[in-house]
Amino acid sequence: MVLQQLREEVAFYGKELVRQGMTLHTGGNLSAIDREQGLVAIKPSARPYESLTAAEITVIDREGQVVDGPYPPSSEWRMHLALYRAFPTAGAVVHCHSPHCCALAALGRPIPPVNHELCCYCSQPVAVAPFALAGTEALGQGAVEAMAGGNNVALLQNHGQVAVGATLWHAMDAAAAAELAAAMVCLGGPLGTLQWVPEQARQALRRHDPMLWGGRQIQAV
Ligand code: 13P
Ligand code: ZN
Repeated sequence: MVLQQLREEVAFYGKELVRQGMTLHTGGNLSAIDREQGLVAIKPSARPYESLTAAEITVIDREGQVVDGPYPPSSEWRMHLALYRAFPTAGAVVHCHSPHCCALAALGRPIPPVNHELCCYCSQPVAVAPFALAGTEALGQGAVEAMAGGNNVALLQNHGQVAVGATLWHAMDAAAAAELAAAMVCLGGPLGTLQWVPEQARQALRRHDPMLWGGRQIQAV
């Protein structure tokens, strides 16, 4: 099977997205790239995650043409390819409709660096890409621009979030970090003034200082 390993990972982490409450029903999508072969394993459009097998994951080339798999690719394939073009060391993309990120995205409010996890993936507050219809080239372009300045995550106005990572594990980790920070804003914000992680710690976390997090291996993108 073409890209067997990556297809298995896409199926596995897709199920994780639902299991972890990061997306509802068939919403969101994810992919991983094999840069040597120039191929991307991506979730098929509108298929339920729960029953998804590796063989059902769609493989597309750099132009979005289907190379293998029984179903059309996610309607967001343009955004996935735009992110791989813009970030040459990205190995995976996770797009989801995690509830607290969706809330802040609808408010047009960036996510401040209020937790350790997010600081590993973002140098700046997570920016909100302007509204664009799902599935369009404009949505992908907005996501790329919103990640400028050293961020692996962007909010998509009135839609959700998207994260890139060296691997699917890292893209999931970044997406989960953004959702946790967004939840902290939604829950803690009404209670008082949210404190940001101090600047020096933020810089160390973004540098992936091996002394931090018990040697937690975060690969930079
Ligand atoms: P697909 O089912 O086509 O991947 O679309 C889901 C989605 O989240 C669109 O933004
Ligand atoms: Zn979506």
